[in-house]
Parts: sequence; C-alpha cells; structure tokens
Amino acid sequence: MTREKAPRGRSETGDPLLLTPGPLTTAARTRAAMLEDYSAHEKSFALITAEVRKRLQAILGAGPELTTVPIQGGDAFAVEAALGTLLPPEGRALVLHNGACGARLALTCRYLKRAHYLWEQPEDRAPRLQDLEKALTEHEDITHVLATHCETSTGLLNPLEAIATIVARHERKLIVDAASTFGAVPITGPASAFEAVVASSDKCLEGPPGVGFVIARRDALEAARGRSHSLSLDLHAQIEGFEKDGHWRLTPPTHVMAGFAEALRHHGREGGVPARNKRYRENTDHLLRGMRELHFDALLPAELQSPITVTFLEPEDPAWDFARFYAALADRGFVICPGALASRPSFRVGCIGQIEPGDIERFLDAVAGVLEQIQAPAA
Ligand SMILES: *Cc1c(COP(=O)(O)O)cnc(C)c1O
Repeated sequence: MTREKAPRGRSETGDPLLLTPGPLTTAARTRAAMLEDYSAHEKSFALITAEVRKRLQAILGAGPELTTVPIQGGDAFAVEAALGTLLPPEGRALVLHNGACGARLALTCRYLKRAHYLWEQPEDRAPRLQDLEKALTEHEDITHVLATHCETSTGLLNPLEAIATIVARHERKLIVDAASTFGAVPITGPASAFEAVVASSDKCLEGPPGVGFVIARRDALEAARGRSHSLSLDLHAQIEGFEKDGHWRLTPPTHVMAGFAEALRHHGREGGVPARNKRYRENTDHLLRGMRELHFDALLPAELQSPITVTFLEPEDPAWDFARFYAALADRGFVICPGALASRPSFRVGCIGQIEPGDIERFLDAVAGVLEQIQAPAA
C-alpha cells in the first residue's frame, strides 16, 4: 500500500475543519475571547451584552421600532421563545414547510398549542408564491406567517423578500427563522411585514454555540406581556431585564457572549454581510464545481442553492458506503454532515465558518483521495 500524502484539513488553531451547517470553525480570536471569567452582574459583562445587541441590530439594519433580545440556548430555543411570546393563543399561523427546519417550526407550534396551517412545498423546488397568496386570501384567521430563510436541511434559499411583500400586502405578520443566513445573506422586504427575525450565534456570525436572539417589534413584545407559557423563554420578561439595568434575568452564558462579541467585531472588520456573502458564495461555487468533476450531483439547481450548505445525492454505486466516506474524510481533518432529506440518501457539506476557497480546494483533494481509497463511486 502506498502511503498517501493526503492534504489535511486544519483550522488556524489546528482543529479539524467543520464543513457543516453549524456549529462551525471559529476564528482563534473568537475562542481566545472566551478565556476570561465574568460575573453576570459586572459592568464589563453588561457592556458586552449591550455591544452584542447593538451589533446584531445594525447587521439587520433594524430601526428603533425593533429591539434585539438575546436568549440562552440556540436558535430552536429562540424560535420557541419568539412563538410562545408573540403568537397569541387565539391567532393562527401559516407555516412554510419545505424541509426539516420548516417541519420543526410546525412542531414548535404544536408543542405550544398554537393553531396553524401548513404551506407544504417540495423540498427541491421554489415555493409557489401563488399558494401563499391563496392561503392568505382564503383564510382570514391567519395572523402570522412563519418561514425559514435558508431551509438548512437542503440548502434551499427561500424567496424571503417576495414572501414578505405578499405578507405585507395582506397585512399579516412574518416571523423568520434566519438561523443559517443571518450575517451572510441580506434580509430584505417591506419592514411592515416583519414581526421578528430569529437566529443564533453559531452559524454565519461564526460565534460559539450557546446563545440565540430574536429581533422583534417593540410594540409586539409590549403587547405580549404575561402571554408566554414559559418562565425562561418569556421574551417580554427577558427584554425588561436588559432595559432595566443591562443585565440578564437568569444566568447568562458569559463565555459564549464574550466569544460572540469578538466574532461580531470580526464580522465588521471583514466587511459585514456583503463580504461574508462573497466569501461563502465563492466557497459554494468551488465546492459545486469540484464535486461535479468528481461525479457528485447536487440536489438543487443553481438558482435555489444558498451559499450556506450544499446537499449532495449519494451515488447509486452498490459499493458506496457513507459511513466509510465520512470516517475517511474525518481522518483527513474534514468533518461533513449526514443528509436530512426525507426522500433520498444524501449528505451535506457546509460552506460557512472560518473557511475560504483554499480550504475547499484541499477538501476536494481529500475527497478525490478518499474515493480512490474506497473505490467508489466507479468512474
Ligand atoms: C440551525 C438551524 C436551527 C437550529 O437548530 P438547533 O438545533 O437549535 O441548532 C433551526 N432552524 C434553522 C433554519 C437552522 O439552520
């Protein structure tokens, strides 16, 4: 057996490269910022919280009618907090369901006992906007539309601006799960449509996992006093704490917030959303081109493909064994992600985090080496 000179995937701190939709490879400075202990009630920590809130608000380009509420946990916690606080029990949601993340939004409604309709769409095609128009016209009881921005289970970028425009025209409210786009894909559309945008620290903002946030309309939060079923997920109570004295109501993730603040400074230094979008888009283009040369088919056509994560279909070769492929890549320092399609065997490769096109090139060399090693798919 010849000894392979396989290219190795390593981040700047020497750890494997995480080519996943999150948590992902973070910058050394972000990790270094987490080495300090803070008391939850120190002024220095209140300043970190205030900085994070301000920077998130600026990334969205949100006006003073919106406020940013960080919450312990991750995106799913923040979504549950947003829905439990903002959806009135007598309201009804329409949930875009074109993948596992949309299904999770609907499941959250079920847990919270909030009535909802499903706007079901295929996972590999653009959602039909005429169905949204029709639902909002026919069902006057719909108060809110819930949608993911990028459906991370497939990598499909939903047409958020078009959705927001229809929601605004029908005078309903939109709550967006922007977990996998916030910081890298602009969130646009008529401001009047947006009631809340939800995301977390650990995806395109390249922070550590452990905190989510909701950027919500102040008037909607104010109207939600006492509505939440949950003490720890009550966004109205959470924002009252920040506005009273700058402190968290319940023990905050101090190290995570310190790392998150540094990651947000880095986001600004890199050039904000446009620069990050460009880098991720280049990563995605390199990945798609290289994998095509290696005979892997992507699930989505180019016009639906987000610059976040790519779903590849598993080869139909009988010799194909995803577990071996995954393990051999991990041995070379590249961690990928199993697929999340209901219909077909697939796997995902993330294009986000402290990753640049050169890393993707090294990954493609590693894939070629692994295919030779495991002899599949047949060329
Ligand atoms: C990552 C992600 C989530 C969050 O899932 P967690 O299990 O809380 O990390 C939810 N929705 C979308 C669109 C995501 O990308």
